Amino acid sequence: MDQSLANAATQSLDELFHRQLDLSRKTATPSAAERLDRLNRLRTMVADNEQRFQEAISADFGHRAPVETTIAETLFVLGEIKHTAKKLKRWMTPQRVKTELQFWPGRNVLMPQPLGVVGIIAPWNYPLQLTLAPAIAAIAAGNRVMIKPSELTPRFANLLRELVAAAFDDGELAITGIEDGIGERFASLPFDHLLFTGSTRVGRIVAEAAGRNLTPITLELGGKSPAIIDRSADLSQAAERVAYGKLLNAGQTCIAPDYVMLPKESVGTFAALLQKSIARMYGSNASNKDYTSIISDRHYARLEALVADAASHGAKILQAASPADTAWKSARKFPPTVILGATAEMKVMQEEIFGPLLPVIGCASAEEPIDYINAHDRPLALYWFGNDDAARDAVLSRTVSGGVTVNDCLFHFTQMNQPMGGVGASGMGSYHGEWGFKTFSKLKPIFYRPGLSRLPDLYPPYGAKIARLEKLLRFLS
Ligand code: NAD
Repeated sequence: MDQSLANAATQSLDELFHRQLDLSRKTATPSAAERLDRLNRLRTMVADNEQRFQEAISADFGHRAPVETTIAETLFVLGEIKHTAKKLKRWMTPQRVKTELQFWPGRNVLMPQPLGVVGIIAPWNYPLQLTLAPAIAAIAAGNRVMIKPSELTPRFANLLRELVAAAFDDGELAITGIEDGIGERFASLPFDHLLFTGSTRVGRIVAEAAGRNLTPITLELGGKSPAIIDRSADLSQAAERVAYGKLLNAGQTCIAPDYVMLPKESVGTFAALLQKSIARMYGSNASNKDYTSIISDRHYARLEALVADAASHGAKILQAASPADTAWKSARKFPPTVILGATAEMKVMQEEIFGPLLPVIGCASAEEPIDYINAHDRPLALYWFGNDDAARDAVLSRTVSGGVTVNDCLFHFTQMNQPMGGVGASGMGSYHGEWGFKTFSKLKPIFYRPGLSRLPDLYPPYGAKIARLEKLLRFLS
């Protein structure tokens, strides 16, 4: 990009930030009515432009199954707004907190306050959901919000920018440009909170930049999320649910099952059931409208290279078509791929797949998946299938992951009353529903000291009074 244009983009970014910062410091905390008005404008913007968002996202992907945009993006965002608007007044109400006896008749209150200016950096895979869902929480908490969408979804980013500019003052909510260098500049601004959704690699860079400003961060990252199929599982049901979880958005989902581990004697049956489920859901034709394209040629080539690397190390590749086939490649649709015999030396077991490839790994014991998971980065999601409660609880209690769905994939993410967030290399912090409201609020503890209280007994000169108070404290401690 032209250097003068890049300079102009970063300059207007800095100006925008300082305008929001000024407003956050110099104007009154937004009332519940103001926050609800902002949420309502957001709701209207999304609801009235559903079709335009769908078309823009589909054009950015090459093809995005329309139902996937409706369910995983539009309806998700509208649901989050509805839930938040309904609960907002209660979340905003200062909460009484217990006061210990020695401080009676003092009173403790926890007061939620907006942090100020919140920055949101979003990825491309669910561009509407991952820009707006954090914004809903940040707006509800009374913040001013700036969002940087991904440069890989330019049509969507331009549309969002245009619609937000029409519905909001840029001091309330603003969408930045996506020019080269904007992401780095954005991450270096001294936000009051920065939420980043994206890869673990870029997450490290963003965390470093935020650290220089002591900006608190929420990192919603990726990684390899396992699906464990216990020997007590209904294999056919598990295969269908894993296939759906994997192939939604063509595997370009942060919480998609990355690989499967199951008893080794079941690998053949499970792989056959998987292929059946895949054929039932998506057929074997690249033109299937329910199957989403890969976001870019670079990502398509990355997936081809992962398969070629696995094959060259001896893995068995099960595909209904070759990714090199013109019908598939020209539409950037990557044929669903089951990989048998994957080993640690293959790249497909080293990096997050983020596409429709599914390694299926046979295990000799129920311990093996637990040991494997604990020897690697903490996963963002974990899936367990089966009916043996003791086996399930062993996995749940001995592994740490961002979230879990038992006997299905993805659905823990859609629970409004549960926090969404990773752990370790898959992220830190969380949002969704009240968890998001709290993430973007300062929960300020306030102690109200009444006129009548024993606290003056603490002041010097220390004499008999303090001895009496000490006795009371010893009794209470
Ligand atoms: P990415 O890390 O490449 O990019 C994410 C965002 O960061 C983009 O907006 C990009 O422009 C920006 N960016 C890139 N370099 C930057 C820098 N140096 N400084 C500041 N910003 C920078 O990720 P992606 O390819 O867009 O998304 C895929 C990844 O996101 C996967 O790893 C996936 O698992 C993860 N993800 C996580 C969640 C979650 O909720 N945990 C959700 C969706 C995707």
